[in-house]
Amino acid sequence: QYIIEAYEIEYTYPDGTKALNGLTMQIEEGRKIAVLGANGAGKSTLFLHFNGILRPGRGQILFRGRAVHYRQHSLLELRKNVGIVFQDPDNQLFSASVLQDVAFGPLNLGLDRDTALARSRQTMRETEIETLQNKPTHFLSYGQKKRVSIAGVLAMEPQVIIFDEPTACLDPRMAQKILELLERLSKQGKTLIMSTHDVDLAYSWADYVFLIKNGTVVGKGSPQQVFIRP
Ligand code: ADP
Ligand code: ADP
Repeated sequence: QYIIEAYEIEYTYPDGTKALNGLTMQIEEGRKIAVLGANGAGKSTLFLHFNGILRPGRGQILFRGRAVHYRQHSLLELRKNVGIVFQDPDNQLFSASVLQDVAFGPLNLGLDRDTALARSRQTMRETEIETLQNKPTHFLSYGQKKRVSIAGVLAMEPQVIIFDEPTACLDPRMAQKILELLERLSKQGKTLIMSTHDVDLAYSWADYVFLIKNGTVVGKGSPQQVFIRP
């Protein structure tokens, strides 16, 4: 059962940079998937297609077997179901307080205020930032900001959660906490997609691995197949 499928995706940025080059990828529901590739390989560009922020120049994206149409209804469904935690939390946080930042996503999806706040409080507990709720985000540590941005994405209750380099720039203890959170999300049945440079992490964490180079998939399989087979 595939939750996301991408077929023959091509994408060129307005400045002429070709970022995706006929990329095809299928994501099984409920799995932990690692996407590995050097800087500039096209991982972030691909993820922006998975939640409809970017529209492919050629090719097709499917969510739960249905082709994404680049109209409001279809895009809202995708935004609800596919959340992205960007690498740098500073790009995702801009409100006056932690609670407002966490609630921004669910409010933006059109949820009523009570529901949005209830979900936000719940995900702040899960990420252990409930005591920070009235603090201005820019006073927080990097690890705290990271958890605020994760709480904001979780409050939208997406089925698929994409983590762009989730452990980059974190100390080992904080990285471990984030990985424990991912484990809990996986046990809840969420589909998790992680981009990373860390081969050891991909090997130990993922059910399935995709290797990306020059905007296309150059390898895929279980970690054992991808990393050990000659
Ligand atoms: P293979 O057939 O290539 O040996 P398996 O079917 O044994 O691979 O898959 C190994 C693991 O990876 C299984 O848990 C399977 O569900 C998972 N898996 C296989 N294909 C995908 C995919 N496209 N996306 C996510 N997980 C996958
Ligand atoms: P990765 O996430 O694997 O590091 P990206 O998807 O960020 O790769 O980048 C793929 C290619 O697209 C790179 O050549 C990168 O320089 C280029 N690129 C990324 N974002 C933009 C942008 N906004 N405008 C132009 N080129 C971009």
